[in-house]
Amino acid sequence: MCVLTSLTLSLLSLSMKINIIGGGVIGLFSAYYLQKEGHQIHIFDQTNLTDGCSYGNAGMITPSHFIPLAAPGVVAQGVRWMFNSSSPFYIKPRLDLELAQWLWRFYRSCNRRQAEAAMPVLLDFNLLGKKLYRVFYDETGLDFKLKEEGILMLYQTPKKEKEELETAEAAARLGIETQTFDRQEVGKFESGTTVNALGGVFYPCDAHLYPNILMEHLIGILRKNGATFHGGKAVTGFEQKGKKITALHCGSEKFEADAFVLASGSWSAKLLGKLGVKLHLQDGKGYSITQKNPAQRPDHATILSEAKVAVTPMGNDLRFGGTLELGGLSSRINMSRVRGILDAIPRYYPNLKVEMPQPENIWYGYRPCSPDGLPYIGRMRDFDNLVLATGHAMMGLSLGPATGQVVRDIFENKNTDSEYIRFFDPDRFA
Ligand SMILES: Cc1cc2nc3c(=O)[nH]c(=O)nc-3n(C[C@H](O)[C@H](O)[C@H](O)COP(=O)(O)OP(=O)(O)OC[C@H]3O[C@@H](n4cnc5c(N)ncnc54)[C@H](O)[C@@H]3O)c2cc1C
Repeated sequence: MCVLTSLTLSLLSLSMKINIIGGGVIGLFSAYYLQKEGHQIHIFDQTNLTDGCSYGNAGMITPSHFIPLAAPGVVAQGVRWMFNSSSPFYIKPRLDLELAQWLWRFYRSCNRRQAEAAMPVLLDFNLLGKKLYRVFYDETGLDFKLKEEGILMLYQTPKKEKEELETAEAAARLGIETQTFDRQEVGKFESGTTVNALGGVFYPCDAHLYPNILMEHLIGILRKNGATFHGGKAVTGFEQKGKKITALHCGSEKFEADAFVLASGSWSAKLLGKLGVKLHLQDGKGYSITQKNPAQRPDHATILSEAKVAVTPMGNDLRFGGTLELGGLSSRINMSRVRGILDAIPRYYPNLKVEMPQPENIWYGYRPCSPDGLPYIGRMRDFDNLVLATGHAMMGLSLGPATGQVVRDIFENKNTDSEYIRFFDPDRFA
């Protein structure tokens, strides 16, 4: 950061009016830590802040997910999945230059050197996220069903077993504890329902929570502490003076501020486009189905490895989530992908059957995905008072509080030489 800019930000940081665009988990945790520093917070969201990607997700806090989405072998697997209509991955075929550019960068990022360099950083960031959830829980006394009880990876085939054991070895090299179970052991470990699996790897470092409740509580506490929410307001443009953004527009309304945080999830590239900035970002759509008070359910948050389905007990409920579709923010529900999720359940849990719900009971959300699988968090080089926080893909919930702290640090001009600032630089593809 140049001296002048650091100075500008730290001077401004005495007490600023900050407009945050996006009331998902990333925008709200940014708001939470900035508010603690005494800043005046305004949150803008195009929705009424009761639904979106940060609500219906699988609720997992995942230090175990230290391998970025862009990793060796992912491209070949993705191509195989493309030809199966119920597989966990799909790209809607279309002529789209941005998608083509993203895929090219994704392909380039799927190499061992980049993945291995990112692994310890992602791990640390996830561990920080988990620690901050505990602090947030203790500080606020809010019950969002946080359970620090680990995550189980279940597998049914020798091929997946080999991959999961290799991941467990890599985890051990990074200092993460794992426990490996064979068929009998996994059956004893999961006592909530019968399991059909060759084995499993358990990551005690992981946790889970009920995201809908977390979001409700976050909004409540921010409001209580004086944040202003502008629900149902879509940001449509900006005003700028040189390198400084002075206001945002919601249609004909204008809202001035000293500084801005852009945390608009999968819509962030579109909004940055209004400022003439190109961001490589695609929406990875996923689905979830939540059963209320099921008669039987697994005790442990689990990932069904072959099917890439997440199964999470949340309070008295049970949620199944999965698939990643690059479909250009399409709102169409792809029933064969949803069927792919639900069909996997009885294969792993023979006593659990989930009926295909009506389309209105199928939740979907768009994960904001960068081409290298790392988030974008930082000040954008073309602007002195704009911080971007997006691109968290399948880890936005897990990384929410850690991201909020980095956003705060940028405004407060703290920890400017941290690894996070370097790895998550929003201008890294420019
Ligand atoms: C099926 C599924 C399962 C998942 N499971 C997990 C999990 O177990 N653990 C985990 O860590 N992550 C998980 N994720 C990923 C996680 O949900 C996302 O990474 C996270 O929610 C992204 O948060 P966000 O705040 O960046 O984006 P969002 O939650 O999408 O928030 C962005 C907000 O910006 C608003 N916005 C956009 N444009 C504008 C505009 N022009 N004006 C005003 N507002 C605007 C939107 O309305 C939205 O509310 C899962 C995702 C899916 C789909």
